[in-house]
Amino acid sequence: RFIVFEGIDGSGKSTQISLLEKGLLSQGRRVYRTAEPTESAVGGLIRETLAGDTRRSACELASLFLADRIRHNANPETGIQHYLESGVDVLCDRYYYSSFAYQGLDTDLDWVMQLNLGCPEILRPDLCIFLDVDAQRCKERVDKARLHLEIFEQSGEQLNRIRGKFFEVFGRLEGRENIVVVDAVRTAEEISAEILELVKRIL
Ligand code: C5P
Repeated sequence: RFIVFEGIDGSGKSTQISLLEKGLLSQGRRVYRTAEPTESAVGGLIRETLAGDTRRSACELASLFLADRIRHNANPETGIQHYLESGVDVLCDRYYYSSFAYQGLDTDLDWVMQLNLGCPEILRPDLCIFLDVDAQRCKERVDKARLHLEIFEQSGEQLNRIRGKFFEVFGRLEGRENIVVVDAVRTAEEISAEILELVKRIL
């Protein structure tokens, strides 16, 4: 199965992906953990842009994410499709929902959605888990861990805007995609137990 984790910065995605990975492995399942942007050459261009080293327009950045995602799916040796066809569960840290929330904020959301959802080489996840934490709490976590050095301002206000954009996107995708918003303001163990239950239903 193809499972995506989404959430604003500091929402605890990495922790929850690790816990789910452990849970699935202990059930004897095979797991491939991956993330976007990827480690590809295009992923490198994206990181360079996010770090502020290279200036690119918002549409250009959205297109780079699209190209990176196509490669992420279709690479014959290391692509998501390849793993799924081999019976491996794929856990992905961010996917097109992030493009809708982040690139959709700076460009035209309809355009970004059409590019991604209309592309035959971009697979639809079986489940998207959105770890929901309020922007203020995330801001505190991001500041504490100094998680990111990016051009995007990580003010509480900005995080809140992005969270709002995610919800706008989920509203638009309602009935078309399997998206579950998980209350992620609890202990890591409590959240993980809920996620394991959600995942069991689609295995
Ligand atoms: O995956 P991670 O939480 O490290 O992502 C870091 C940042 O990458 C996000 O805060 C966001 O600024 C940027 N990003 C983006 N568009 C995506 C994925 C990530 O702008 N599609």
